[in-house]
Amino acid sequence: PGILYVVATPIGNLGDIAPRALEILGAVDVVAAEDTRRTGALLSHFGISARQVSLHEHNEPRQVPGLIERLRAGGTVALVSDAGTPLISDPGYRLVVAAREAGIRVSPVPGPVAAIAALSISGLPSDRFVFEGFLPAKASARRQRLQALAEDPRTLIFYESSHRIADCLADMRETLGADRRAVVARELTKTFEQIRGGSLDELCNWLAENEDHRKGEFVVLTAGAPEPTGEGVTPEAERILGLLLAELP
Ligand code: SAM
Repeated sequence: PGILYVVATPIGNLGDIAPRALEILGAVDVVAAEDTRRTGALLSHFGISARQVSLHEHNEPRQVPGLIERLRAGGTVALVSDAGTPLISDPGYRLVVAAREAGIRVSPVPGPVAAIAALSISGLPSDRFVFEGFLPAKASARRQRLQALAEDPRTLIFYESSHRIADCLADMRETLGADRRAVVARELTKTFEQIRGGSLDELCNWLAENEDHRKGEFVVLTAGAPEPTGEGVTPEAERILGLLLAELP
């Protein structure tokens, strides 16, 4: 059988495409793209002509069998999305599962991921983190999800678009607390890249004060909840408590 390559593309700056990604995109039998027009523009920018098939959220179940057939017959396929790494808040999951079940080799060509790029410059703890992708669009479901994350001690990473960024931050302020540290990473690797850190309260005000602050693509990161201090009572507190108890009548 052939090989399915999962190929990362830039999240803004075209210079971030990997040489190996270009090599593989130029060599495969077919490129499975989330948006063939967008990928067509990327390919032609690098002087690559490739046969494309569309593979997006809505046609993925329909498109997978044909691609698996091609791979079984020994063909090579490169999966790409509009930006960054496929499957990371992007299509491709069904294709990868089907290929692995069929015993077809699936090989990564790694590159940009907005979440990881943002984490790497956020100054928030990066040893343990949770990627939550997009929060639910409906306010009640969004708050419920945030509530479920409120006690998590790990750094939380979210994706957000311009039209919901203000609502999203406001809900975070309410559920995670106004003082919780957070970072908004906007338009990473692009001309208007902007990184803003502060409390959720400060960040809400910052978004409100200027329309430009709400434009573009966003990664929002929040610090985790403070770790509980051991078993509740420290040995020293226990010792003092013992002394006090002894004095009680
Ligand atoms: N597959 C992509 C990745 O690897 O990061 C993510 C695709 S998802 C449909 C698009 C979301 O990713 C945007 O709404 C935004 O939250 C985030 N994103 C993508 N590019 C970004 C950038 N240059 N700066 C900030 N956030 C970005």
